[in-house]
Amino acid sequence: MSSTTTAGDVEDFRLEARVWIQANLEPRAETVNVGRLEGETTTHEEFDKARALQRKLFEGGFAGLSYPVEYGGRGLTALHERIFREEAAGYVTPDFGAAGAVTFGAIGRSLLAHCPPEFLEQHIPRILSGEEMWCQFYSEPEAGSDLAGIRTRAIRDGDRWIITGSKIWSSGAYLADWAMCLARTDWHAPKHRGLTWFALPTDAKGVTINQIKQINGNAEFCEEFLDEVEVADDHIIGEVNKGWAVTQTMLVYERGAGEMGAATVEPRELAPDLVELAKRVGRTEDPAARQAIAKAHINDYSQYHLGHRIAARLAKSKTPDPAVAAYGKLASGVLAPIRARLGMEVGGPAALTWTSAEEGAGQTALNYLNGRVTSIAAGTNEMQRNGIGERVLGLPREPSFDTNKPFSDVLNSARNWESKVG
Ligand SMILES: Cc1cc2nc3c(=O)[nH]c(=O)nc-3n(C[C@H](O)[C@H](O)[C@H](O)COP(=O)(O)OP(=O)(O)OC[C@H]3O[C@@H](n4cnc5c(N)ncnc54)[C@H](O)[C@@H]3O)c2cc1C
Repeated sequence: MSSTTTAGDVEDFRLEARVWIQANLEPRAETVNVGRLEGETTTHEEFDKARALQRKLFEGGFAGLSYPVEYGGRGLTALHERIFREEAAGYVTPDFGAAGAVTFGAIGRSLLAHCPPEFLEQHIPRILSGEEMWCQFYSEPEAGSDLAGIRTRAIRDGDRWIITGSKIWSSGAYLADWAMCLARTDWHAPKHRGLTWFALPTDAKGVTINQIKQINGNAEFCEEFLDEVEVADDHIIGEVNKGWAVTQTMLVYERGAGEMGAATVEPRELAPDLVELAKRVGRTEDPAARQAIAKAHINDYSQYHLGHRIAARLAKSKTPDPAVAAYGKLASGVLAPIRARLGMEVGGPAALTWTSAEEGAGQTALNYLNGRVTSIAAGTNEMQRNGIGERVLGLPREPSFDTNKPFSDVLNSARNWESKVG
């Protein structure tokens, strides 16, 4: 709770939210597996429905609760966001698939931190009303964990920039209106110091977006080819060649800063999805299944409360601390795969095969396939461990061959080395 927010304010807000939600949102169907199956890909029609619902929230004053008032938000706190989520848990809320979390979380917050008021006045109200949805173009086929090693280039040409390169793993790009795109603008600077972020309309000339179908059947990930895409100077996010500062902000929010733990409702019941599953497969009395359900509940409880402790620590600092966010990211990257595996233990063979007539029966297998998501997305578990080791515990840094060298020299040395060994 912020110093100016009182318990009375919070309870008044809860009541206000409850009344509005009951009057304006539809109750969700009574099912444990609420929302979409993880393997389903969001369609353009579903996306448009989500936009319409988001508009309703915006007009009702319940979009962007913790965003500044001057850009269409309510200027409230993360706690108010959580209360709204708790009150709305049994109702249909906008489902933008992967694009929702990145737009309202990592991207919106990064724009607020690094863009001038004119840019924010133009974009943030449109974001909060669902008119403008965004995606992130940062990973490349040869730069994921080593993000500062990206090779997409932006060359200045008068008051515009020409961007050429390729990106991959962009969640929801096929639905998004805009992308936050990372490009190299100085090849002679060390790799972290020659980077710049651009705001790129996804329908700009020269942008090709292809969906990638994954093992879980989902095709929300995309790859992009950027072929001499023109971007105006005033579409720079942050400062030229200082994009690493924006990257750090974005990754902190993507790793759950201020949101982590607040995203889920406190698990008051024993792993309801697995209890339901145990009933379906006739294992409610099986000690092994009961043990797995108990472990899942402990897992849910740990994720929720750890998330809240970390969110509270992050809320104390003016700018969220990447090292603290890394703990939350690592915790969910470790606990989520275990939770997904427990589902398979309870479901047994029935979780591996099912018929299309058995509604929701594939969810356990899909959860399992998706169980690795948090251990990779926005930085792998290993990268969080490296960060904690070096920046929190003060352990020796990893050996590096490219620190303080011009990036062009790093690439040339790598090419020479490859030709020698090849
Ligand atoms: C669900 C999901 C959503 C995503 N959304 C987006 C998006 O919207 N936009 C976007 O641009 N990208 C997105 N990504 C990409 C994501 O950021 C990268 O997958 C991630 O940074 C890892 O990079 P990589 O896949 O290239 O793996 P690599 O970097 O190739 O890593 C491979 C393995 O090597 C390990 N490793 C690498 N370097 C080190 C090191 N120094 N020390 C120890 N171990 C190391 C890694 O931990 C990993 O196990 C998404 C990924 C996922 C899974």
